[in-house]
Amino acid sequence: MLSYRHSFHAGNPADIIKHLVLATVLEYMTRKDKPLDYIDTHSGAGFFELNSSDAQKTQEYLDGIAKLWHYDGGNETLAHFVTLVKSFNKTDLLYYPGSPKMAEQFLRRQDKGWFFELHPKDLGLLEENLSHKKSLRVRGEDGFKGLLGLVPPASRRACVLMDPPYEIKTDYQQAAKMIIKAHKRFNSGTYMIWYPVVDRERIDLLEETLKESGINNIQLFELATSCDTQEHGMTASGMIVINPPWTLKAAMDDVLPELVDILSDENGFYRSEQLVEE
Ligand code: SAM
Repeated sequence: MLSYRHSFHAGNPADIIKHLVLATVLEYMTRKDKPLDYIDTHSGAGFFELNSSDAQKTQEYLDGIAKLWHYDGGNETLAHFVTLVKSFNKTDLLYYPGSPKMAEQFLRRQDKGWFFELHPKDLGLLEENLSHKKSLRVRGEDGFKGLLGLVPPASRRACVLMDPPYEIKTDYQQAAKMIIKAHKRFNSGTYMIWYPVVDRERIDLLEETLKESGINNIQLFELATSCDTQEHGMTASGMIVINPPWTLKAAMDDVLPELVDILSDENGFYRSEQLVEE
């Protein structure tokens, strides 16, 4: 039974770190003319109205994209990201693109996009929200398994986003297991796993599992809007990136201190780490 709907959370601080890394990676990977496969294992609806009753119920976007809307600082990565979100709006902040719609902005004629979603309502919305191009394929199937069927891709270049809801606690180990399996089949792909920090021990274990997997070149970027706590709720979230573009770490080192200043309380912090060397 799937109950998670991303429409309640679109544009929150967790989306900002996730989509900032995603956009930065895709911008780099689409510089070369060579075809690229983008695989979104947990796609959601793809595009969100911030005036919807779901988004208004939680108003989480007010702590995320709304705080960046008038960004006029000098950080190029952040400025490009805000411009990207603005391209989906006219003047006011009304819409926020999910990972599929954001990725669609980068994908070119020679690229392919694969989008997995299991929730029947979000699957229908995703189909409506993505352009009806043959190169963008939506699948109402399990994205963990779907990934394994797509690697290695014919293009030999792929970028994977794994963004499960972590409603089921086994998602943490399942995410690690599936990425390790996919990497065994195709070790030059770029793999991104989003994670929430609700219980720090789960993330420590996820990191250990990946570190011990034998996979090289793993980086981690985390944004904490407040300090870790034993109480219920997410205080931080991050992206683990396997085979990142060589420019990613420097870009994140530059942007994360500023992002913490804008989005976090006085106990907020960030992490930008090379978990496993190249
Ligand atoms: N990636 C999206 C974004 O950034 O806009 C948000 C995705 S949301 C965190 C997770 C989504 O995964 C939910 O829409 C949920 O219905 C879907 N989902 C849950 N289990 C799944 C599975 N095994 N395969 C594919 N989708 C799944």
